Amino acid sequence: NLKIGVVGLPNVGKSTFFNAITHSSVAAENYPFCTIDPEESRVAVPDERLDWLNAQYKPGARIPAYLAVIDIAGLVKGAAEGQGLGNAFLSHISSVDGIFHVVRAFADPDVVHVEGEVEPVRDLAIIHNELRLKDVAMLNKYIDANQRNIERMGSGGSVDDRKRKDDFATIVKVRDWVQAGNDVRKGDWSNREIEVINTQYLLTAKPVTYLANVSEKDYLRKKNKFLPAIKKWIDENNPGDKLIPFSGAFETALAAIEDPQAQAAFLAERGGAASAFPKIITTGYDSLHLMHFFTAGEKEVRAWTCRKGAKMTEAARSIHNDIADSLIQVDVMRFEDLKAAGSEADLKAAGKLIIRGKDARIEDGDIVYFRSGQ
Ligand code: GDP
Repeated sequence: NLKIGVVGLPNVGKSTFFNAITHSSVAAENYPFCTIDPEESRVAVPDERLDWLNAQYKPGARIPAYLAVIDIAGLVKGAAEGQGLGNAFLSHISSVDGIFHVVRAFADPDVVHVEGEVEPVRDLAIIHNELRLKDVAMLNKYIDANQRNIERMGSGGSVDDRKRKDDFATIVKVRDWVQAGNDVRKGDWSNREIEVINTQYLLTAKPVTYLANVSEKDYLRKKNKFLPAIKKWIDENNPGDKLIPFSGAFETALAAIEDPQAQAAFLAERGGAASAFPKIITTGYDSLHLMHFFTAGEKEVRAWTCRKGAKMTEAARSIHNDIADSLIQVDVMRFEDLKAAGSEADLKAAGKLIIRGKDARIEDGDIVYFRSGQ
């Protein structure tokens, strides 16, 4: 169950974002399991292919993939040194898989900015610095706890000793990288180093999607004076990370309208604008290196989550361990083939049903039928 945490300075619109997404249509999709934490919202990952399959199979149920979004309030300057409720919140972040970093890019004299003027680039730097300092502290703790032992080992030693020395050297290398002002995830690490890094639950190892909270007016006209500087900061500091503008005020107003016709009218009055949530959710999901495959039948059409590059057995495991353990072969329909053929029967008649072994890689959009020995 993968989670993205909403992070940012106070008063930038995190709660506004979280509340709006919780009450929006992406969260309104029925979640089959109950109990939802007040700080956790489960949102459906939008996918047009699932909608197409639903129209095609007309099953009893249409079940999307879900992403959990978590509100993590309270990150302030000095958090890594224990300012505010700093340390507790920083440990909250270590339990999420990815980060939505909300940055304030709206001017509103009524909303106080904790750091004075609205200055998103300074804010980005403050948050990144806090996350990095926390990582440095965690890595230093490891280094302090192991240094004496490693030094005592001297050169040579058993295979185990050598592995511990290598691991230690990796941690020191990562600490130096982070201390020099870099995020862990932007380093160029070998597979062996990545294995060591993964044992440390580092904050700056998590993928980040930047969300710029702009005024409704700026959102509608797709222009905001801070966006170029934010983009430049991201490109210089964390190249490849995505930036998505949204408007807390706009999303709140939209999410408060329940009637679909009234919603459509609200959007039409605003020049055909649309919510930024579908894009935000799919981008966040993608940042976690996840993809969808589908199952489709008379009872339900369903999107399942798996890691990009996963093998069939691993994908089957998202459904049930028994299926994965006794998997023999997989019938695969490529989504594009099915759409082109028009129906499952036509696809089969055209000889486009693909039979794959359990060690084959599953691809995004595959519609699968797992044949197991059960
Ligand atoms: P948080 O501390 O980051 O969770 O920030 P909040 O979501 O509580 O927002 C802080 C203040 O900014 C609240 O008064 C919000 O109503 C206001 N706010 C949030 N988003 C917007 C926005 O898009 N435009 C304007 N004008 N105010 C906003």
